This record gives sequence, structure tokens and C-alpha cells, in this order.
Amino acid sequence: MVLTLEEKKERRRLATKKYRESKKGKEKIKKYKEDNKEKLKEDAKIYYQNNIEKISVKTQIYRENNREKEKKRSRTYYNTNREKEIERRRKYIENNREKVKERERKYRENNKEKITNYAKYYQTTDGGKKSITINGWKSYGLIDDYDKVYERYEYTLFCDECRCDLDQCTKSVKSMDHDHITGLFRNILCRSCNVKRR
Ligand SMILES: [Zn+2]
Repeated sequence: MVLTLEEKKERRRLATKKYRESKKGKEKIKKYKEDNKEKLKEDAKIYYQNNIEKISVKTQIYRENNREKEKKRSRTYYNTNREKEIERRRKYIENNREKVKERERKYRENNKEKITNYAKYYQTTDGGKKSITINGWKSYGLIDDYDKVYERYEYTLFCDECRCDLDQCTKSVKSMDHDHITGLFRNILCRSCNVKRR
């Protein structure tokens, strides 16, 4: 039987594939990769630079066809490389200010409803409630370790002065008594005690 050139090529390709998947082949490849780490890195870099367009089209198609898988992968990567990623993003934003601003502006324009809905939802979450409350404090001049004060705020059930139940008494509404000169937080009071103290 005489094989054509194409057939010979295919046969060789299959043989190589079989070898690469065998135990011996796998070990050899692993060793080769370990021994040539730097060189392979450099080769990959050069290949990438020379085929940047081809690769980006391929990547885009792959991502479109594997959306869920990619989302999961990217989330896992972010969680295990958090610090590094935050720093990388910070640098990117610093170096691409105008580009980032423009992209953000466009995103806002195209996702108005989504953004409003999310903002509404965020206000109902623990984090949202916390940030709204702290922003309120800031606006009337309370300066302090906000996280610490917020924790105290959350777990205080009775007025520090008259001990009324802050959830029930009509004069309640947790008031943040603070030093008006230094801005520092002093007590959590019911409204009437707070008015008296001023
Ligand atoms: Zn009171």
C-alpha cells in the first residue's frame, strides 16, 4: 500500500499524539518543560507578539462559547490572586484614566435601568445600610473609626443615658451624640436625651 504525502503526515501526527499521551511521553514533556522554563516563556512571549491578532480573535471566540466556564475561572483566579489583581487594576486605571472614564460613561449610558435597580437593591443589603448610615454621620461632622462606631451602633439596644428601649420608645431613633468641636463620637442616645445634652 502506497501512502500519499498527506496520509503519511496524518499517520505521523497520530503517532506523535499517542506518544504525547502515553505515560513515558507525558513524563518527558514535563521534564522538558521544567528544564526549559525560561526559554519556553520567552518563546511564548515572542509567539504572542507575532500573532497578537490571531490570538485575540481566537480568545474572543472561545470566551463567547464558554461564558459560564470563563466566568467561574476568572472568579477563582481573582479570589486566589486578590492583592495582586487589585494592584494591577489600580495601575491600569492610573495609566488609562481617560479610556476608563469613557468606558464607564458609555456603560452608565447603556445600563441606566440596571444601575438604578442595583442601587435600590444595594440599599437593602447590610453593606448598603452601613454605608448609608456612615455617610449620614460624615455629613453632620462625626469623625471617628467608623467601623468600630458602626458596630457599637448596631448592637446598642438601649439609650446610654435614660436606658429606654431604642426599638420601642417613641422618642427613640438612635442619635449619635458627638463632641461638636473634635467630631468624636460619645454616646448613642434616644432623641430626647440627645436634644437635652446639646
Ligand atoms: Zn434617652
